[in-house]
Order: sequence, then structure tokens, then C-alpha cells
Amino acid sequence: MSDGRCYDIVIVGAGAAGLCFAAALRGTPLRIALIDKLDEAILANPAYDGREIALTLRSVATLRTLGLWERLPSEQVAPLHGARVYNGESLSCLDLRPPPAAPAQIGYLVSNHLLRRAAHEAARANAQISWFARTHVTQVSCSTQAARVALEDGRALEARLIVAADSRFSETRRALGIAARMHDFGRTMLTCRMTHEVEHQRIAQERFGHHQTLALLPLNGQCSSVILTLPHAEITRLQQLSADAFERELERRCARRLGRMSLNSERFAYPLVGVYATRFVAERFAAIGDAAVGMHPVTAHGFNFCLASHATLAQLLRQALHSGQDIADASLLRRYEQAHCRATLPLYLATNAIARLYTDESPPARLARAALLHLAHRIPPVGSTLSRLLIRQGAPAAGDLRLVSRA
Ligand SMILES: Cc1cc2nc3c(=O)[nH]c(=O)nc-3n(C[C@H](O)[C@H](O)[C@H](O)COP(=O)(O)OP(=O)(O)OC[C@H]3O[C@@H](n4cnc5c(N)ncnc54)[C@H](O)[C@@H]3O)c2cc1C
Repeated sequence: MSDGRCYDIVIVGAGAAGLCFAAALRGTPLRIALIDKLDEAILANPAYDGREIALTLRSVATLRTLGLWERLPSEQVAPLHGARVYNGESLSCLDLRPPPAAPAQIGYLVSNHLLRRAAHEAARANAQISWFARTHVTQVSCSTQAARVALEDGRALEARLIVAADSRFSETRRALGIAARMHDFGRTMLTCRMTHEVEHQRIAQERFGHHQTLALLPLNGQCSSVILTLPHAEITRLQQLSADAFERELERRCARRLGRMSLNSERFAYPLVGVYATRFVAERFAAIGDAAVGMHPVTAHGFNFCLASHATLAQLLRQALHSGQDIADASLLRRYEQAHCRATLPLYLATNAIARLYTDESPPARLARAALLHLAHRIPPVGSTLSRLLIRQGAPAAGDLRLVSRA
């Protein structure tokens, strides 16, 4: 049963990537079908999910262009003034700050659910979008003539282009036979909000300790997002502790640097799996967001890459419309794939290597990371590259940051 309408683009997945992409096509004549398995009410007002997204200044500029930034509640946008990376309990660290004459902030922290809510509002402003919530795709087929998806409720949609934005475990990508390289890090990340006695001074901290990785992201007030990476069984134990026992254990794991700590949200767990699709495009098909590149969150590039992927594709589609080219033209899709691969592959590989190195407890790995931080202190280009990779503020433009060595 066809819904009787022919679309230009079917987007599968109304997460941050799908919604931002749909919002980016506002003002074009493109008719869009947006499909998500979640209920419309949940898409409009998603619940807090423990993710605090570190946005680069460049991503903030993209969000402004999309009309998203001004939809965020300003009191819940937390400016980030710097970041420090420590190896174990060592007092020396890599310290990243903006240059003296630059604005104080190197980026901003915003909760994922607020970004999704704002993206939903912005996409809603695009009258060319037809919404298909609380349903999922059961079949996908793409040919030189057209692309088709079948929905579980029996409806079938036809379009010129299908865009997969249905998470790193994309069923749409799989249905089209596109493989992905996956790396399971064998670790799980616990995230929650905690208030604390000692001020964070808007400085993020990443501490690669022995047997645990701990990140503290400064939110507004005396509150931080705590992100703890451990083997899965340990995270399950921490989730099951009473709030009081959890707070005492976190104070100990933070070496009491933040003083007394209180749990201020639910505790969320995210198993760590990196995913890189072997192809981002096929006949009348493109993958964006995590469906193309699902990063390890340690370097905070995932959402920033989502914005980059949809911006590149949306710009190519606008150019195609302008010149009367088919929006699913193979050369256009190939250009998207090449540009996104260039932007993401080096950071994806480097992030995985660093995540492996900093969770490996073998003596050679411990020596290697101590040596790497030592080199980073001694050789400024090594330091700034490592800092950009490790610190959860994404990849700022050259010259945005300065590295201060603290020994
Ligand atoms: C703990 C954590 C911290 C992070 N921190 C940062 C950070 O600081 N900075 C940063 O840039 N990134 C960060 N990220 C990454 C960022 O959250 C993701 O890159 C981004 O949210 C991915 O968006 P997406 O829309 O591609 O996928 P998702 O958010 O996974 O959305 C996918 C959507 O598709 C829908 N869907 C799935 N399957 C189907 C189907 N078959 N049919 C229909 N709909 C379907 C789902 O319901 C969902 O709405 C973090 C991630 C984690 C886990």
C-alpha cells in the first residue's frame, strides 16, 4: 500500500542527525518523509539521557545557521573555558586554554535531549516534511529509477534518495548490504550529573587512571557531568548501588578533589562500540550521523561529525537543485562520501588508538601513555594534537587554543 505521495528524500531516523539534516533543507522545494520508531510526543520532548554534548565553536555556528541555537534554554547552555588531561594520579597535565585575546570559552556543553528538542522544533518549521512516527522500516530497495521503503504498518514510500540516520547500528545500512567496521572496546561508560562542594571553574577534566577513565564536564552551578569508563560488570554494580553508597564511591574515585558529591540525575550506561561504515553511499542512498561514523565518545566528535555530515550533504543537494542535477546523482553522492571520509577517518582511527591505549592496563601500555604525555609536554605540536584528540571539546580551528604545560 503506497501512501500515494512521491517524496524527494526519505530520512530514516529522527535523532540529532536526521532532524538537523531535515532542518538544513528548509527553504528548498524538496519533499521529505521523516521516519522514526519513537512516538511523536517523545521526539518532540525527549527525556534526559545522560549525554552532555561538547560543542565546538564551529558547531555552534552551524546550529545558529540552522535556527537551533536560539531555541536552546540559555540557562542550560554551559560555556567551557578550558580542559585538562591527566595521566593517572600525576599532578602534571595538558592544559588547554583559549589564547589571551580570544573569547573565554573554547566551546559549550549542552544536553543531548535539549539539542534533539531544539532540532525537532527547527525541523517542524519545515512545512515540506511529512512525519512518520512510531513506525519502522521493514524493507529497503534502491535502483537506478527510484528508492523505496516499506513500513511495518504496510505503507510503502517512494523517493529519489534515502538517507539513513538510524544510529550506529543502522538497519537501513544493513538492509542495503553495506558492511561496517565495528570495534567493541569491552568497556561501558556510566554517565550522570552530580553536584559538588568544590568549584569546577568551567574547566573540563579527563583523567586516564589505572583501571578507570574519569571525565568531569563542568555544567552550570556547582554541578558536573561525571563520565566513568569501566568494564561492564563494574558499571552494573555502580548502577545498582544506593545513591548514598554511589556518592561516597564517586568521591573516592575523584580522589575527593570535588569535595562532597551528590547524585543529581539517573545513572545511564553506554557500551562502547566504534563503528565506521565501509561505504557512506550507494545507488540513491546516503548514510549520515552515527549511521556513517559512530565515534568512541572520549573525544566528543560524534555530534560534531553529525553536523559536518549533514551540512556537506545538504550543501551538495542545494547545488544540485540550483543546477538542475538529480539529487541522487552518483557523482554528487561520491563527493559527499569523499568529503566526509576525509573529515572523519583520521580522527576515527586516532581516537580508537588512543581509547585502546588508555584502557589497556598492561605495563607496556602504561609506559607508552606516560611517554606520550611526556612528549606532549616537550614537543608542542605533539601536545596540541594529543589535546585536541583527548579533550572533549571536539576539533577547534587552528589557533583557537593554546596549550599550557603544567608539570
Ligand atoms: C555517552 C555519550 C557522550 C557523547 N558525548 C558527545 C560529545 O560530547 N560531543 C559530540 O559531538 N558527540 C557526543 N556523543 C555522540 C552523539 O551523541 C551522537 O553522535 C549523536 O547523538 C548521534 O546522532 P544520530 O542521530 O546519528 O543517532 P541517534 O541519536 O542514535 O538517533 C537515531 C534515531 O533513529 C531512530 N531509529 C533507529 N532505528 C530505526 C529504525 N529501524 N526505523 C526508524 N527509526 C529508527 C532512533 O529512534 C533514533 O531516534 C556522545 C555519545 C555518547 C553515547
